[in-house]
Amino acid sequence: MTVAKRIDGKARAAALAASITEKTAALLKKHGIKPGLAVVIIGEDPASQVYVRNKKRTAESCGFHSVQHTLPKNAAESDVLKLIDELNNDTAIHGILVQLPLPDHLDEQAITQAITPSKDVDGFHFVNIGKLTAGHTSDAFVPCTPAGCMLMIEDELGRDLSGKNAVVIGRSNIVGKPMASLLLQANATVTVTHSRTKDLSKVVAGADIVVAAVGRPDMVKADWVKPGAVVIDVGINRVEKTVDGETKMVLTGDVDYDDVSKVAAAITPVPGGVGPMTITMLMANTLRSARLAAGLGA
Ligand code: NAD
Repeated sequence: MTVAKRIDGKARAAALAASITEKTAALLKKHGIKPGLAVVIIGEDPASQVYVRNKKRTAESCGFHSVQHTLPKNAAESDVLKLIDELNNDTAIHGILVQLPLPDHLDEQAITQAITPSKDVDGFHFVNIGKLTAGHTSDAFVPCTPAGCMLMIEDELGRDLSGKNAVVIGRSNIVGKPMASLLLQANATVTVTHSRTKDLSKVVAGADIVVAAVGRPDMVKADWVKPGAVVIDVGINRVEKTVDGETKMVLTGDVDYDDVSKVAAAITPVPGGVGPMTITMLMANTLRSARLAAGLGA
């Protein structure tokens, strides 16, 4: 028996993208400003190429100036840093992102920290992380995946999460930690769990909000989840499944969707949940950056 509402991330992202497109057209008409997004990809990782293509396509459909820089997988770090420096100084560019993961010889921290904080639309710069942690989100860039999760949580529970228990599974810098900061800022009581957490299922059982960002297929089961909880599944796992006698690769999340749907109030599917929101939040951050650069306020 399914009771949970299926949170349609695709539809939510499409509505948000429509509003971004409208605001972008108004910004161009009124102020002659077109948000510019530069995506840097190094090497030929097939998954990264798909992500970059989607980002470029979405940026163009929102009416942005969109550029892609493709560097060979053996690119020297000095060349990557030189390109970032040029983009930092390019007034037509308001958002810069370097697609991760990077080839092994490149220092991820040196590269992400070279992007000027005011164009760091991925929210990975220590300045933006610090602002988020300190609750100064008015001019910070928040990482796109947790920002998208937060919008979906707000849709279900409102902006003030006072009295709600939230459990975040995973403590990465990209998802788990910024997610916890956002939930805390919305007044939730937040527990961050990870691979060293004891009795994880018992911790999750106390949560009104569960955000799973682990990378382990179907890990969260119905008997972990409090009836009526809102469950956000960030995980993207490629697994082999046999459907109608045919074995194929499919995407699945960290939450056993069919099982948890029996107890949760609302749940995001994979695919079609958090993923589409992530790309759209990148566009929201880039538009915001263009407005802030012009002194127009976020
Ligand atoms: P990560 O590998 O950096 O972090 C995983 C976290 O899970 C770690 O903090 C680790 O301690 C924790 N963990 C590992 N095993 C655990 C266990 N058994 N119990 C509890 N915690 C455990 O990963 P990430 O970058 O945070 O990504 C997590 C997942 O989310 C991945 O599947 C990734 O593909 C997906 N992801 C999706 C989007 C999206 O847009 N939908 C964006 C980013 C990441």
